[in-house]
Amino acid sequence: MSGKLIKNGIRTDGRKLDELRPLKIEAGVVERADGSAYVEFGTTKVMAAVYGPIKVHPRHMENSRKGILKVRYNMLPFSVYDRKRPGYDRRSVEIAKVVSEAFESVIFLEEYPKTAIDIDMEIIQADAGTRVAAITAASVALADAGISMKGLVSSVAGGRVEGNIVLDLTKDEEDVDDAIDLPVAMIARTGEITLLQMDGDATAGEIEKIVKIAEKGCKEIEKAQVEALLKKYSAEAADNR
Ligand code: ADP
Repeated sequence: MSGKLIKNGIRTDGRKLDELRPLKIEAGVVERADGSAYVEFGTTKVMAAVYGPIKVHPRHMENSRKGILKVRYNMLPFSVYDRKRPGYDRRSVEIAKVVSEAFESVIFLEEYPKTAIDIDMEIIQADAGTRVAAITAASVALADAGISMKGLVSSVAGGRVEGNIVLDLTKDEEDVDDAIDLPVAMIARTGEITLLQMDGDATAGEIEKIVKIAEKGCKEIEKAQVEALLKKYSAEAADNR
């Protein structure tokens, strides 16, 4: 099938349908936070930092049985073509909630009673997929901070563009008529899905194929997440020798 953006199975940026954008993951990129990470999915660039476990403010939000997660997602004004008004809006609050839910079942929160774990995600440059890149970064930042988790969470969107099932959509692809964008987050090691969202109308068969292509992407992302963590910690071990 040949469309405006996809011709004979090749996309405008030269990618195959099931190919990720150039992926870059770095662990421990800032010194002040307990854990941090930088992630690029092509021209989408994000940073995540984790503080925790820390004291809960305000105190009445404390839970004596488990830690609480405080998640922030913020798009910097220069991250999009038309400068964005600084600060949080409805979309950023919704994304923070969704990301929080993606980690609730993964972090062993019962190991952190009466404390909070702060996850800050900053979108430096946006070309679709910011929430999935941010989840990928937050997961590496959590591991870098030494927070106990069931496993690393990897995240990417799958979707439908011009009738083709594709992996890791760009903004141009997302904006095509009839496009479907389906962000998926999962513990790639176990296959447990922790986030599944949907934008657009898809059939059950299409959803199945989209989730499958996203799973393939998550497995590749997990490898890069592990490599980034190993790189940081092997460098630290060498320094301490
Ligand atoms: P995600 O970035 O997780 O895919 P959306 O589907 O809401 O989330 O957004 C898709 C893309 O639309 C973003 O990555 C960004 O490129 C663009 N976008 C979102 N919000 C804005 C905004 N306020 N101003 C300009 N572009 C935006």
